[in-house]
Amino acid sequence: MPPALTLTQRLEAHLRNGHPWVFRDALHLPQGLRDGDVADLHDAAGRFVARGTVEPDSPLTFRAWTTREDEAVNEDLLLRRLHRARSLRDDLVPPDVTGFRLCHGENDHIPGLQCDLYDGVASLRTDGRLGLAWEERFVRAVQEVANPRAVVVRNPHAEGGPRLVAGHLDGEVVISEGDRLFTVDVLHGQKTGFFLDQRDNRDRIARLALGRRVLNCFAYTGGFSVAAALHGAEHVTTVDIAAPAVETAQRNFTLNDIPLAPHAFRAADAFDVLAEQAAHPGRYDLIILDPPSFAPNKKTLPRARKAYGKLNELALKALPPGGWLATASCSSHIREIDLLDILAEAAHAARRELTIASVSGAGADHPRRLGFPEGAYLNFILAWVA
Ligand code: SAH
Repeated sequence: MPPALTLTQRLEAHLRNGHPWVFRDALHLPQGLRDGDVADLHDAAGRFVARGTVEPDSPLTFRAWTTREDEAVNEDLLLRRLHRARSLRDDLVPPDVTGFRLCHGENDHIPGLQCDLYDGVASLRTDGRLGLAWEERFVRAVQEVANPRAVVVRNPHAEGGPRLVAGHLDGEVVISEGDRLFTVDVLHGQKTGFFLDQRDNRDRIARLALGRRVLNCFAYTGGFSVAAALHGAEHVTTVDIAAPAVETAQRNFTLNDIPLAPHAFRAADAFDVLAEQAAHPGRYDLIILDPPSFAPNKKTLPRARKAYGKLNELALKALPPGGWLATASCSSHIREIDLLDILAEAAHAARRELTIASVSGAGADHPRRLGFPEGAYLNFILAWVA
């Protein structure tokens, strides 16, 4: 029998409804447990609630893997779950998409493991001390399920940054997304190399792009820019504060046979660029805002709301009537309703009327687990300006 932890708060229903996390202040923890050890979670009356893994010194101390008492938490379970994650992608990811998320951590019922595939290269982001303790198991499972030609692992707790742990990485890794191609720097890029979660939203931008003048702020390597330029945008300005990202965006234009000349690439602060445009509106009729998470935790929320508000207000001031705003937030602390509120306030401040055309999230390869609102981190709103 695994060792038992006891809940000191009444979280049974929360766990049974799918939420996999228990924080330190809601637990009594026996001595002697190590990171990644399997333990049972009991309620105050000693009844089984869940089985999972522990990280004794982390605020996030217990992650549930199962609420079935007859299910062992081990490498077999990991493998079954990863096969299941794979079959979901087989159903939902089109065959001409060669960059997609194979495993979305807790949302795929595999706590601590995010794994993206980039043209056969597996890029893992393991989470917390669990990720360190289970790294070899995670890598073996990915190798068995996906047979990758190379495996890269990153964990924010590990020293030394992303590591190539299997196979070879020679030459550029290029993925296709239907008619779009992207180069992905799996070792040095942000996230696991690319923002795969915006794929369906890139399609939304592509559908709006014909004949438009597009300003893509926080562009990273130009995912939205390529989508717009390939689908008939007259002009695309790509803005990111990181010069190497902007250079890679140019490489992505070239990969897609898009001439660079009609377009602009700026390594600049998006707030400054938007302030310029707000002072001289009308140059762009589609503005994309996809900033980094301004709210990594609840404490930063008030400041984050202000920053999102400012950005959206500036963008709305810059747009002419009939223009489009695509605005995103990638923090689970900013829910859909919060982003809509922020937008309403920004519209008021900018004296614009807005019509919401669509609200969406990440693509289906980033599924959400029931009962786990943290899984719904990405919100993407398309709004029409009057
Ligand atoms: N839209 C991108 C992902 C954006 S990630 C995509 O679809 O791939 C956020 C990006 O914002 C990062 O590339 C980061 O370098 C950039 N960034 C952060 N602060 C910025 C600022 N003040 N101005 C412009 N870019 C910024």
